[in-house]
Parts: sequence; structure tokens; C-alpha cells
Amino acid sequence: MYNKMEELREKIQGCNKCKLCSGRKNIVFGVGNIESDIMFIGEGPGADEDVNGIPFVGKAGKLMNNAFDAVGITRDEVYIANIVKCRPPNNRDPEADEVKACIDYLRNQVIIIKPKIIVLLGRIALQNILGMEYKITSSRGKWIEKKGIYYLPTWHPAALLRDETKKIDFINDLIEVLKKEKEL
Ligand code: URA
Ligand code: SF4
Repeated sequence: MYNKMEELREKIQGCNKCKLCSGRKNIVFGVGNIESDIMFIGEGPGADEDVNGIPFVGKAGKLMNNAFDAVGITRDEVYIANIVKCRPPNNRDPEADEVKACIDYLRNQVIIIKPKIIVLLGRIALQNILGMEYKITSSRGKWIEKKGIYYLPTWHPAALLRDETKKIDFINDLIEVLKKEKEL
């Protein structure tokens, strides 16, 4: 267990705990404000993230940024990370053994940040954090409280690329996040 984010980042450099290490260009550790009340958790790096080492910098990331702008969230006031820190080949879903190898790093990040709110971006984040029994379509937009943390599952930003109507849901969910932050 690491108490400091920079120590954790250092320790992960060169990680080869799962087979995703062989295809990655960069580990995508996470970015943002480690003092934030709000944490966003995605799935895993895509091609652009792999090249840059930063989460959500590709097409889906731009959509996420636009939605943040619409509600007045800036990327540097929240913290953004992923379930797995290395890019799965061809953007396939991370496999169970990869998640198992990687998720303790994310847990350590959560322990350091102590967020009040965790936004789960899409099915992979939802199921790996809260349990395989959760379905994204029925859970989206509904708060789930566990051990003092409020979780809000929402669409993965890449889903907004395919379906315009999901953008409205996504923005409404962000508005709910800001309301909840004020309440807590
Ligand atoms: N999709 C994710 O889930 N995470 C990223 O960082 C980029 C795209
Ligand atoms: Fe290590 Fe996670 Fe990358 Fe696998 S995905 S090699 S566990 S950092």
C-alpha cells in the first residue's frame, strides 16, 4: 500500500503483472486533482491514450471534455483513471486476469484520493467495481452508496459517439454529480 500518488506512479513503471504489458507504449496511470471529491473511472487506454500516457485524450475524451465544459467541470479539478492501465489490443474488453492483476493499483488510488463520489464510465467500470450483477442500462443515472462512497454509473463516453441521445443522459448525470457534491 502506497500513501503517496507519486510513489505509486513510480512503483507501477515497468509493471509486467499481466499480458497487456507486452503491447503497450505507455502506462496510463491517471490524471487530475488527488484532493478531489470526485473520481471518474473508465475502462482502459485506447490508441491515443497509449501514445500519450494520459486517460481520455482521444475521440471519446473530447466528447467527455465537451460535456465537462457544458456543466462547468474542468479536468484538473477531478481525478480520472481506468480499470486497467495498459491498452488492450484492438481496444477489446480487458480480460478477467488482467483486471485482477491491475485493479489493486486503482484501489490504492481510491484510498489516496478518498473521493466522496465515483463516476463509473460504462459497463466495464461498473461491473468490475460494484459487481457483475449490475447492468449498465438499468443502473445508469442511479446512485449506489457503498461504505460511504456514492457511485454513479453512466454511459462510457465512447457510447456517446454512437448514440446522440446518450449525450443528454451523460450531461444530466454530470449535473447530478455536482448537486451531490454540494450536498455531501
Ligand atoms: N476509454 C477509456 O475507457 N479510457 C480511456 O482512458 C480512454 C478511452
Ligand atoms: Fe501492470 Fe496493469 Fe499494465 Fe497489467 S494492465 S501490465 S497489471 S499496469
